[in-house]
Amino acid sequence: MSEDKAQPGEPMVPGDKAQPGAENAGEDLCPRCGGTGRYREEECENCGGSGRVWVPVGTP
Ligand SMILES: [Zn+2]
Repeated sequence: MSEDKAQPGEPMVPGDKAQPGAENAGEDLCPRCGGTGRYREEECENCGGSGRVWVPVGTP
């Protein structure tokens, strides 16, 4: 199984800078919540509570 691997077409969250699951995208810690998924005792809007956001990688 690959439950920790995002599937292509997964909805983007506000903090995503690249399409989740895309070849040229990688996960990074959410800069807002620092990877906790929580911000001020509420779900972090930036990452949708996952603690991670997608960013472009390998771009020239
Ligand atoms: Zn976050």
